[in-house]
Amino acid sequence: MTATAAPDQSLHPGVIEFLSGKSKKFLINGRWQEAQSGKAFPVHNPATAEVISHAAEGDRADIDQAVAAARRALEDGSWPKMTPADRSKLLHKIADLVESHADELAQLETLNNGKTIRESRKGDLPLAVDLLRYFAGWATKIHGETIPVSVPYAPGTKFFHYTTREPIGVVGAIIPWNFPLLMAVERLAPILACGNTMVLKPAEQTPLTALRLGELLIEAGLPPGVVNIVSGFGPTAGAALSAHPDVDKVTFTGSTEVGRDIVRASAGNLKRVSLELGGKSPNIVFADADLEAAAKGIFMGIFYNQGQCCSAGSRVYVERSKFDELLTALTKRAQTVRQGPGLDPNTQMGPVVSQEQMERVLDYAASGKREGAKLLCGGQRLGGALAKGYFVGPTVFSDVRDQMKIAQEEIFGPVVAVMPFDSADEMAARANGTSYGLVAGVWTSNVKRAFQMAQKIKAGTIWINCYHFVDSASPWGGYKQSGYGREKGPYAIEQYTQVKSVWVDLN
Ligand code: NAP
Ligand code: MG
Repeated sequence: MTATAAPDQSLHPGVIEFLSGKSKKFLINGRWQEAQSGKAFPVHNPATAEVISHAAEGDRADIDQAVAAARRALEDGSWPKMTPADRSKLLHKIADLVESHADELAQLETLNNGKTIRESRKGDLPLAVDLLRYFAGWATKIHGETIPVSVPYAPGTKFFHYTTREPIGVVGAIIPWNFPLLMAVERLAPILACGNTMVLKPAEQTPLTALRLGELLIEAGLPPGVVNIVSGFGPTAGAALSAHPDVDKVTFTGSTEVGRDIVRASAGNLKRVSLELGGKSPNIVFADADLEAAAKGIFMGIFYNQGQCCSAGSRVYVERSKFDELLTALTKRAQTVRQGPGLDPNTQMGPVVSQEQMERVLDYAASGKREGAKLLCGGQRLGGALAKGYFVGPTVFSDVRDQMKIAQEEIFGPVVAVMPFDSADEMAARANGTSYGLVAGVWTSNVKRAFQMAQKIKAGTIWINCYHFVDSASPWGGYKQSGYGREKGPYAIEQYTQVKSVWVDLN
């Protein structure tokens, strides 16, 4: 491996060991194997563009094998015989292992994705551990009901009627690169709690933490085939998984465009689909808000994880009387951010994930300028010591109109459009003026207005005087083209189980 780091960024021995050797294999039926084609693809450190590893490149043949393994594990072997309490214990064991390897996993995530080590360590890892424990608790609490039926066309008859909640079956999970380990765990925890088996396809940019998680799953004693992890590309491995006739459900997180492909691919066997797609989320500041808190919330709302969050607050609206003040505060803060490799503990903002993503972000910045928006800072690739990495300066635009591309399309990078508004009624309509509906932020000290805005905005999550708060117990998902289905909380149990009605004749 060629990964290097300055002394204060020295690599954890576990990371060094994981990255040693030629190429990472993937996990099928409890065994580590190469792709049947023998192909592997390079994995980069976005802070330096160096190749840090290679991963086996799965395609249809490997997906077929993985789905067959998941099917066998679902129907034979120890998994279906395991009690809910044993599944719970197993999830707790996985949580303990992830927790005890948190430093190593956080470094590996930062090295591969570029996010700051602070974010990996304080955000992604504790959330992943919490999700595993939260759903470990659910494993023993998934049950049906008894229902008093009347049967109007058969007076006098008696039945005992009950429901059970059963696993959906083999679940395909296709995840993106912005929170690689966290997304893997967010899918895996409820899928296993409900007794399903799965095939996970991590994003091509960031397969490493998912593969390391696979090693921990084996260490925890997960039976073979229950979780299969196949690294590879979307149009080959991802498409094969989403169209597979023996996959019962696909859970997808990523772009709206690919989301549509997933829905089309599901039609063959009418598999269940849940979609967590993009957003173009409004973060709205009324003049009566605590402006200092709002400025912080807006900054973090867009620039956390280099803006690569489905929930990024990429449209900021400020009531006109406070517009200049807030815009100045935001721009100043953006201009003083310390950018650098995520492994450097002093770094406040890392690189974006890949060259492709950097180019996409820079194209959007150029389109903003072309359409007449005013670029206040950023919009360029960084040079100097950071010239090799995929660094884009935090980018702030004013003079933006709602119809511009930078105000309508998901950029998924550190680019924010700041616009003034004049009234709450106007604002609710503008907030809803994109095809997305994932989240919204509202900053105000007026309680009535806060509730009214929460009611009027069409989005799956509304944050009042806060932003980017998430929890294992809080449902997550979109309105409109931000997707359908809800992950996390009790809603995830509905996503990964199906209900059976049983009638017993008592006549
Ligand atoms: P993407 O293509 O939607 O990737 C998400 C996942 O889907 C990846 O695992 C990807 O594999 C896979 N995939 C791609 N094409 C597929 C297909 N035809 N069938 C099945 N699976 C497929 O996202 P991206 O290309 O990495 O990023 C593009 C844009 O998507 C971003 O700029 C952003 O706007 C949006 N995005 C949103 C989220 C979110 O959390 N909502 C996350 C990531 C990206 P590969 O990695 O091999 O392509
Ligand atoms: Mg892609």
